[in-house]
Amino acid sequence: MATVSISGVVACHRCPVRYFLERGTERTESERYTVAKQISYALGKPLDPKALWREVLAVSPGIDPAMETECTAWVDACGQREWRTAAEHDVPVSSEELGIRGTIDRIFDEEPYFAIVRSSGAPEAGIYASDRIRIACFVVCMEETLGIRPNGGVVEYVPSGAARLCIPQPRDRRAALRALAAAHRIENGDVPRKPRNAPCERCHLEETCSGGARRLSDLL
Ligand code: SF4
Repeated sequence: MATVSISGVVACHRCPVRYFLERGTERTESERYTVAKQISYALGKPLDPKALWREVLAVSPGIDPAMETECTAWVDACGQREWRTAAEHDVPVSSEELGIRGTIDRIFDEEPYFAIVRSSGAPEAGIYASDRIRIACFVVCMEETLGIRPNGGVVEYVPSGAARLCIPQPRDRRAALRALAAAHRIENGDVPRKPRNAPCERCHLEETCSGGARRLSDLL
């Protein structure tokens, strides 16, 4: 069985047409992600905004200089709370049983055993549905790859300096499995229809998608 990336599962949850159209395309890393990721390596240690910005420039020399303001503000937000130091960063994990793979941003020696880093601001309360799906997938992958069965994982919303524990619920696992099944069907040649509740107004493919992929039967 071909494996699907966990970000692909999340993309498929948002819209299977989007997953279909983006398959095989190399997406450029967003500048927000570059900054958030670099800050995440320093969480649990003293945070120095100037030093972190120098690291960002070393990683991405062409980054918009205006991002330094964001970097400073995010470091400031992160400095308002205690963070755990990761035992390991960027650990690849997978589940043969489910056919998924991904990379865990931060792993710890104690529960909660892992955290994923997000470059979006935290929601007013709780955790975004897409992040709950990510955590549900990583819990399964951690058990299969590392032999650790975590109860849940932490979502670290770096721009807000927030770390929120997510214990996946049955509805999160159901949503993940539905999205994964749709992704596997697409990998096996299925052409998805545009879902009724597709989030087109927030989709960067709105121009090119022209209402979603169509099946041959839709055209005849
Ligand atoms: S524009 Fe709408 S239907 Fe097309 S990929 Fe985006 S969300 Fe899906």
